[in-house]
Amino acid sequence: MQAVKYARASSIGDAIKLLQEGGPAARVLAGGTDVIVQARERRRDIDLFVDIKRVPEVMAIDFGDGVTIGAGVPLYQIYEDERIARAYPALIESAHVIGGTAIQGRATLGGNLCNSSPAADSIPAMMVLRGVANIAGPNGEREVAVDEFCTGPGRNVLEVGEFVVSIRLPQPPEHSGSAWQRFIPRNEMDIAVANAGSMLVLDGDTVTDARIALGAVAPTPLLVQEAADALIGRPLTDETIAAAAAASRAAANPIDDMRGSVKQRKHLTGVLTERTLRTAAERARA
Ligand SMILES: Cc1cc2nc3c(=O)[nH]c(=O)nc-3n(C[C@H](O)[C@H](O)[C@H](O)COP(=O)(O)OP(=O)(O)OC[C@H]3O[C@@H](n4cnc5c(N)ncnc54)[C@H](O)[C@@H]3O)c2cc1C
Repeated sequence: MQAVKYARASSIGDAIKLLQEGGPAARVLAGGTDVIVQARERRRDIDLFVDIKRVPEVMAIDFGDGVTIGAGVPLYQIYEDERIARAYPALIESAHVIGGTAIQGRATLGGNLCNSSPAADSIPAMMVLRGVANIAGPNGEREVAVDEFCTGPGRNVLEVGEFVVSIRLPQPPEHSGSAWQRFIPRNEMDIAVANAGSMLVLDGDTVTDARIALGAVAPTPLLVQEAADALIGRPLTDETIAAAAAASRAAANPIDDMRGSVKQRKHLTGVLTERTLRTAAERARA
C-alpha cells in the first residue's frame, strides 16, 4: 500500500479546507471499504485521506419532510432504523446486501454514491426515491439529484474541495411503494450482474407516478423515463408491467464481462423491473 497522509475534519468548513488544500489527490475517507482497497492496489492517485466521520452533520439522521441521512452514517444504522425501513423499503433492500455484516458496519450511502460505480447497489434505490445529495464546497452549498450525480464509471459532479454532507429522501406520497432487487451468481458478497429499483404511486388501480432505475447495465446507474411513461396514467396490469419491462430492456446498454453477457444483462433488467414493480405495487396497496 502506498503511504497516504491522514487528516480528521471536525466541521464542514474544516473538511472543505483540507480537501481544497489537498487538491485532486485528497480523498474523503468515509467507511473506507472502497477507497482503502483502491489505495492499497494503487488504483487511484491518492496522497491524503480526509476523514469526515467527526463532522456532526455527516453522522446525523434527521426526520423532517422525509429523512436526511448523513453521508457518513454506516449502513447498519440505516436499516436498523424502523422509520426509514417503513418508509423507504427499496433503500433498505439495497443497504442489506452491500458486502456483508462487517462491511455494513463501516460502509456508507455517501461512499456508495461518490464511488460512482455503475453497479453500485444503493444508487438506483436512491434514484427511485428521488434522493438529493447535499453538497458543500468552497463556493457554498448546492443540491444535486442522485439521478444527475454520476457522470461516468467512477466519475461524478463533485469538484475539488466539495463533498457530500448528506442525502435527503422526500416523504413518500400516500399509496406509494418501492422495491429493489439485484441478480448475483452467489447468495452474497458479489457485484451485481444487474440491479433495479422501482417506485409506484397508485390511485386505485391507476398508476399516478412511477420511477424505475437500473444498475450495472450502463456506464452510470440509469433512470428509465420510458419505463415510467409506460405506466403513468394507465392501470397497473400484466400488460403495462410488461411494457415497462420492455422499456427497461431497451434502455439498458450493458457490456459483456466475466460477470455476465449483454444478452443476460438485458434479460435480467426486464425480469428485475417486473419483479420490483410487482413488489412496489403490493406495498402501495398495503
Ligand atoms: C468485500 C466488499 C464487498 C462489497 N460489496 C458491495 C456490494 O454488494 N454492493 C455495492 O454496491 N458495493 C459493495 N462494495 C463496495 C463498498 O463497500 C460500497 O461502495 C460502500 O458503500 C462504500 O462506502 P464507504 O463509506 O466505505 O466509502 P469509502 O471507501 O470511504 O469512499 C468511497 C469513495 O467515495 C468517496 N467519498 C466517500 N464519502 C464521500 C463523501 N461524503 N463526499 C465525497 N466523497 C466521498 C471517497 O473519497 C472514495 O472515493 C463492497 C466492498 C467490499 C470491500
